[in-house]
Amino acid sequence: MRRILEIAGCTLIDGTGRAPLPDATLRVVDGRIAAVWRNGERPADQQGPAEQVVQAQGKTVIPGLIDAHCHISYGEGKTAEEVDIYGGPEWAAVRAVWNAQKVLQSGVTSFCDPGSTWNVAVSCRDAINNGMFDGPRVFAAGRHICADGGFADYFPSWLGMPVSAEGVLCPTSDEMRREVRRQVKNRVDLVKISGDSQAQDTRPDASPCFSDDELSCIVETAHGLGRKVTIHSRYAKTVAAAARAGVDWVIHASYMDPADIGLLLDRQVPICATMTYTANIVQHGRDVGVDPNYIEVKKRELDALVNAHRKAIEAGVPMMAGSEAGFSVTPYGQWHAREIELMVELLGMKPLDAITAGTFNNAKAFGWEHEVGSLQPGRWADLLVLDGDPQADIRVLSDRKRIAAVYKGGELVPRTDPVPTRRRMGHERSLAVSSVPLNR
Ligand SMILES: [Zn+2]
Repeated sequence: MRRILEIAGCTLIDGTGRAPLPDATLRVVDGRIAAVWRNGERPADQQGPAEQVVQAQGKTVIPGLIDAHCHISYGEGKTAEEVDIYGGPEWAAVRAVWNAQKVLQSGVTSFCDPGSTWNVAVSCRDAINNGMFDGPRVFAAGRHICADGGFADYFPSWLGMPVSAEGVLCPTSDEMRREVRRQVKNRVDLVKISGDSQAQDTRPDASPCFSDDELSCIVETAHGLGRKVTIHSRYAKTVAAAARAGVDWVIHASYMDPADIGLLLDRQVPICATMTYTANIVQHGRDVGVDPNYIEVKKRELDALVNAHRKAIEAGVPMMAGSEAGFSVTPYGQWHAREIELMVELLGMKPLDAITAGTFNNAKAFGWEHEVGSLQPGRWADLLVLDGDPQADIRVLSDRKRIAAVYKGGELVPRTDPVPTRRRMGHERSLAVSSVPLNR
């Protein structure tokens, strides 16, 4: 029997950027959206009675949020060592599915994990899809592909890169090609490149950690196997090289050269700014014991990013939204929608455009735009019922009390109150970026 749900009388923001539809009804059949109409305009083919009708007068319905940058395996780590070494794969995997339910309950119905320790993101995705645990839909990467001296090559060379680390060292093109094939064999959706070199931290005009040929090798191998590619790229030369190599989106682009905006535009390469981690350190770092020097570094980066991205947005570069959830300054379930707020507050985007970035644009970048990311017929009914108008106050997206309901695939997501907490165990701890989690 078909299961039919109707949400009636709401203001509907469909995620595509179209103007909100007032007094709208959304009809869901077997978990997918069958039709959307304005009061009094019910389509002739949508007449059968609904099993359940949710009256949503005065409420706004938007697509479930998609966080394009959530590291589900990092466990709110305070240091590189906590993320990369402590805990172990068994613990990280169990912890990840536990944290994924918090992400879903906060209104995030899909996320991309662009860089996992071990292969945790893939297993987390599969466990949720298999019905074993509640959680968002997951678009999963494996370990970052990294060359010596690259961004994620944190540890001294005499240690190398531990197998548990977020990155995997690939010294040659052959190794890079082989690692992409291995990751695809292990069922990733996405290949993540750790593009910046550490040399760029002190000499911003230095080269990325890959040559153009190496980047092309990674991108061509991944695309040939039907996988998307993204890249950590704060610095201008990395952003430009990545766009030329054909990556599907660039992450950060904090110091991008405005002269390269045309490169991104021509290729329609979106930017996922991922500001929340940086902004949290700038705005709250002192409260949680972040090193003052690191706060200064992050402040300079945020200022540069805002300046560059305002120009990119004005030029029409597509924007995605990702929070960098998973660190001690971005605990799961608390900061995902902060990125959308920052797009409004810092980048000057209209709330409707920022919502599109955090829904439709993210889905499109994953190749999921026909499945999720907008409230159009045929898509899964992943949606939020909001007690408020995000166009008037974008902060409603982060306010648990004003998120009246979360639906995934047409099913109401049960939410625990209060949000579950846990004690961090000795084997997952080292010394800290901050002394306590930055709870909101
Ligand atoms: Zn990240």
